[in-house]
Amino acid sequence: MTSLAAHEPSAPTPVQSAVAIRGLTHRYPKSQRPALDGVDLDIPAGTMFGILGPNGGGKSTLFRIMTTLLRPTAGSVAIFDADVLTRPALVRRYLGVVFQSPSLDDELSVAENMRHQGHLYGLAGRELTERASVLLTTFGLAQRVRDRAGTLSGGLKRRVEIAKALLHRPRLLVLDEPTSGLDPTVRQDLWRCLTELRDRDGMTIVL
Ligand code: ADP
Ligand code: MG
Repeated sequence: MTSLAAHEPSAPTPVQSAVAIRGLTHRYPKSQRPALDGVDLDIPAGTMFGILGPNGGGKSTLFRIMTTLLRPTAGSVAIFDADVLTRPALVRRYLGVVFQSPSLDDELSVAENMRHQGHLYGLAGRELTERASVLLTTFGLAQRVRDRAGTLSGGLKRRVEIAKALLHRPRLLVLDEPTSGLDPTVRQDLWRCLTELRDRDGMTIVL
C-alpha cells in the first residue's frame, strides 16, 4: 500500500490525544434520559479505537458531536488542538468521516463520486485525479473506477466510502458502524484496510 499520510512520521513525538472528551452530556429535546451523560475519554493519536455499546447507547450521538453536526448540551470535545464548538472548520479539516448510512451516489461512477467529494474539499484538476487514483488503487478498486457505484457490492461500496473520506488527507478517520450489513469475509477485509492505514500511515481511527 502506498503512503496516504500528508507527512511521514519523523522522530518520536510525545503521545498526543487525537480526541479528548470531557464531561460530555447530550440530551435530545423532550427525551427522558440523556443520550450521553458525563463522558470522559482520551483517544491517543495513531491508534485504532472502538466504541462499543448496545443500540441506543449513544454511539451515533457521540459521532455527530465529534463531527460538528450536533452541539452538545454540556462538556467539550477537542480533535487534536481544535475544539468542536470554537473551531468547527478546523475539526472538519482534520476529520475523514464515514457515516452509518451509505453516502455514495449510486447513479455516478466510482470516479465521479470521488471527484465530487474532492470538489467539496477544494481539490481539483490533476491533484484530485492523482489522489483519487492512488486511493482507489490502494483499496483494490482500480478495475471499478468507471463503474456506476450502484453496481458495486456492499463491501466494495464501503471501500469507496473510506477512499472518499481520505481524499483530503485527514488525520483522524471516524466510522460509524462500518461493518454493519457486511458478511464476515468482507468484514475481515475491511478490518485489514483499516489496520494498514493505522500501521503504515499513523492514521488515528475511531469506529
Ligand atoms: P447508538 O448509535 O449507540 O445506537 P444513538 O446515539 O443513536 O445510539 O441514540 C442514543 C439515544 O438517543 C437513544 O435513546 C435514541 O433514541 C436517542 N436519540 C438519537 N437520536 C435522536 C434524535 N434525533 N432525537 C431524539 N432522540 C434521539
Ligand atoms: Mg448508531
